[in-house]
Amino acid sequence: MDIIRTRERGNLIVISGPSGAGKGTIISALRGINKNFWVSISMTSRDIRSNDIPGVTYFFVSKDEFEKRISNDEFLEYATYNGNYYGTPKDKILDKLNEGIDVILEIEIQGALKVKEIVPDAIFIFILPPSMSELRNRLIKRATDSVDKILSRFKIAYKEINEVTKYNYVVINDDLDSAVLKVNSILLSERCRVDRIEDIYLNNMEEEVHELLVGKDLDNSEWEI
Ligand code: ADP
Ligand code: 5GP
Repeated sequence: MDIIRTRERGNLIVISGPSGAGKGTIISALRGINKNFWVSISMTSRDIRSNDIPGVTYFFVSKDEFEKRISNDEFLEYATYNGNYYGTPKDKILDKLNEGIDVILEIEIQGALKVKEIVPDAIFIFILPPSMSELRNRLIKRATDSVDKILSRFKIAYKEINEVTKYNYVVINDDLDSAVLKVNSILLSERCRVDRIEDIYLNNMEEEVHELLVGKDLDNSEWEI
């Protein structure tokens, strides 16, 4: 009999951090070393960037369409960021968790705090750049936004960094490989938590130990090496 079995349910993992810190890059690289997670595809009303693939990076809708979906209660959480809506569609998340797959939400801080209210046992990871000047370099190098948008993202980033203490883990994305390993280690460690053990196995183990010991004290031969 197994000594213990952990609950099959996947963990809900929220990854936040300033725009340009490298969240997307880390999550893509994670796919190379961990197959047991699924990344939720958010819906947004922002413009499509050159590196976006509709239905893969985001589901793109108009503001009106997004508001209709808010009234239909289709989102686990949603927020406005830099003048646009972003939200996590509810469908699929529960199914994935019940299949034992970890679900990653890559979302900004207001949304993360809403998830914390709804799912208190979710795991919250904050990704930081090594410095603000490196963050600026990465936003410029990514070349996906106009100068105005880069500036407003940079200003939001400055405020966001103060929220790091509301998270469970912080990973500084200096060297990419080591940041990816750290995030993977968090995912693996969270799977080993004692509160994931199914009590039924511990109770059965007591019975098994009892069976192995009762009546055996007079006959030690089964225990000899
Ligand atoms: P986010 O998803 O947090 O907005 P991205 O993943 O788009 O950030 O990364 C922003 C830019 O920084 C990209 O051009 C990416 O290639 C680069 N980048 C990400 N991680 C690193 C790293 N560890 N070292 C150097 N550049 C990085
Ligand atoms: P970007 O425009 O760079 O793709 O995303 C801007 C910000 O919105 C990032 O901080 C990103 O994590 C966040 N974001 C993406 N999807 C969601 C979502 O579904 N909900 C919330 N609250 N934020 C999101």
